[in-house]
Amino acid sequence: FWTEFSNFASYQSRMEDRRLTYVRRFFNLAAHQTGHPNKYMDTVTVEASGLTRVYGNRAAVNDVSFTLSKGEVLGFLGPNGAGKSTTMKMLTGNLAASAGTVKICGIDIVENPKEAKALIGYLPEQPPLYRELTVSEFLALAARLHRVSGSHVKKAVQVAMERCGLTDMSKRLIENLSKGYQQRVGIAQAIIHNPMVVILDEPTIGLDPIQIRDIRALIKELGGEHSVILSTHILPEVEMICDHVQIIHKGQLVFNGSIDVLRQQRHGNKLLLGLNNPPANEELLKIPGVQTIDTLPNGLLRVRYAEGQMPTEALVQAAVSNGWGLHQINPDQTTLEEVFVQLTFQEAEA
Ligand code: ADP
Repeated sequence: FWTEFSNFASYQSRMEDRRLTYVRRFFNLAAHQTGHPNKYMDTVTVEASGLTRVYGNRAAVNDVSFTLSKGEVLGFLGPNGAGKSTTMKMLTGNLAASAGTVKICGIDIVENPKEAKALIGYLPEQPPLYRELTVSEFLALAARLHRVSGSHVKKAVQVAMERCGLTDMSKRLIENLSKGYQQRVGIAQAIIHNPMVVILDEPTIGLDPIQIRDIRALIKELGGEHSVILSTHILPEVEMICDHVQIIHKGQLVFNGSIDVLRQQRHGNKLLLGLNNPPANEELLKIPGVQTIDTLPNGLLRVRYAEGQMPTEALVQAAVSNGWGLHQINPDQTTLEEVFVQLTFQEAEA
C-alpha cells in the first residue's frame, strides 16, 4: 500500500504544479473577461445559482441560489429532510445537480471539477478518519490526497495541527482520542490544503459542552481566512458563530440574509410585564400605545404596543402610583426557535 501510495503521491505532486498553472491561467482569463481582476480571487468564493435536484418526480432541492464571500461564515439551517445534505453534496461536487450551477471562486464545479474541488475542504457528518493512524500520519496522508506537494506536507501538517489545537496530540492514535479531538482532526484534514471554502456538516453533533465551545471558537476563527459553510440544526450555534444564515425548508430557501436581519425579526413590539397586584386589563389598555394584553402561564403579562409608541415609562409610572407591585418589565423577544417555526410554517402554508 505504502509503495503504491508513494508513487501516487509523487504523481500527485507533479499534477499539483500543473493544476496551479491551470488555476492561474483561469484567473488571468476570468480577470481579462470580467474586467474585475479581483472579483473572484478576493470576494465571491461560492456562487450557487438555481441549484435543483430532483428525485423521481420530487425536487429535494428547488432553485436554491446564493453567494458567499471570503471571510463569511454561513449557517445552513433546516429541519430533517429539508435538503441540506443534498445541497452540500452538490456544492462539494459529490452529487450532480438536475439544474443550476455551482462556482467555487468562479470555477464551475461540473466543467472543472478538479480545480474547483481543490479549493474546497469538506468535513462530512461522519469524519473520514483512519483510526489506526496517528494524528500526524493521518494529516500527512490527507495532505497528499489534497495534492499538497511533497515538500510542503510537513509544514501543512504542522500548521493545521496548530490551528486546530492538536500539536500535543500529534503522536496519538486517532482511535484513542476523545470525540472532540477526533472532530478537530476532521476539521484539520478539511483545512490542510488551505482551501478557500470550508464546508462542515453538523460539526458539533455528539460533543460535550466544553468540546462544543472549543469547536465553535475554532470555526469562528476559520471564518477569518476562509469562507465557511456550516450545516446545523442548532439555532444558538448559528447565532454564535455565523454572520450569514440560510434556512431551507422542503428544498427551498425560506430565509437568506445576515444574522442581524434574523435577529431583527425577533424584536416585536412586545414587553413582558410582571405585577404582583395586576389591575383589570382595561386599566392597562388605557395607557397610550398599549394594544393588547395576554396573560402567560407563568403569570407574566405580554403587552403588545403600537409601532413607535413603547409604553415602558408610562407603565412603570402607573404601576408605582397605583401600587401594582411591579417586579419585572423587559422587551419580549421572539426566540430564534419561534422565528424558525414561523418561517417554515409560513412556507408550509403557502
Ligand atoms: P437534510 O440533509 O436536510 O436532512 P436531505 O438533503 O438528506 O435533507 O434530503 C432531502 C429530501 O430528499 C428528503 O425528502 C430525502 O428523503 C430525499 N432524498 C435524499 N436523497 C435521496 C435519494 N438518493 N433518493 C430519493 N430521495 C432522496
